[in-house]
Amino acid sequence: MGKVTKWKRILSKAFDWLKKNKPTPGKMSGKLKQRVIIVNGSKFKPESLEVVYDKTAMIPSDYVGKLEYLVIHCTATPMDMKVTKKHIYQWHIVERGWSRMGYSDLIWSNGYIENITPYNEDQYVTNDEMTWGVSGHNKNTRHICIVGGLDKNKKDADTLTAAQAFSIANIILRTVRYHPNIKIVGHNYFTNAKSCPNFDVPAYLELLGVPEKNIGRK
Ligand SMILES: [Zn+2]
Repeated sequence: MGKVTKWKRILSKAFDWLKKNKPTPGKMSGKLKQRVIIVNGSKFKPESLEVVYDKTAMIPSDYVGKLEYLVIHCTATPMDMKVTKKHIYQWHIVERGWSRMGYSDLIWSNGYIENITPYNEDQYVTNDEMTWGVSGHNKNTRHICIVGGLDKNKKDADTLTAAQAFSIANIILRTVRYHPNIKIVGHNYFTNAKSCPNFDVPAYLELLGVPEKNIGRK
C-alpha cells in the first residue's frame, strides 16, 4: 500500500472515530484557556477550528524568539504503552536532569491532547513557553509529541493511530491559521541522526492540504 493511500485510509478512519466519539471542549491549563473543536461534515477546515486564547499577551518582555517551526516528535515507545506527562517529567527532568520538559503537547494514542507546557498563539516564544525539543532549535520552535513510534519488537515504526492523525491535524491547522508563515516539520528535519517521529511528515501534510509554503522539506 502506497504512502498516500495509507494516509487517506487513516484519515477516513479518523472521521469514523470522530463520529462515534464526539469531541467535548477541552480545558487547557495556563495561557491557552479553552480549545473548542468543531468539524463540519467530512472536511478539515481551518475555519472550523476555534481557539479562545489570552489576547493580553501581545509583546511579552520575556520573549526569546519568533515562532517559526512546529516540530512533531514521537515518544519512541512501544505502540501499546500508555505515556503521559508523568513519564515525560520522569524522563526529561528526573533522569536527564533537564530544566524543562521537551514538549508543548503530548498526543495520546486515543487522540487525547495533554498539555505539557502552556503556550498561547501570539507570534512570540516566551521563556515560559520554551521547551527542550531539539538541541539548538528551541527559541523559534514549538514541539508536540505523539505517543508511540516503536513496534512490538521495539523497532522504529509508523504507529500513528487514526485518532492521533486527527488530533495532530487539528493542532496543525490551528497553528497554520494563527501563524501563516510557520513551517511544520518532523524532528528528523533538523538531524539525520534521528528518524523521529517515524512517519512521513511531508506526505501527511500534503494529504491534509497544508499549503506547500508551510511544509518543511529537507
Ligand atoms: Zn523527537
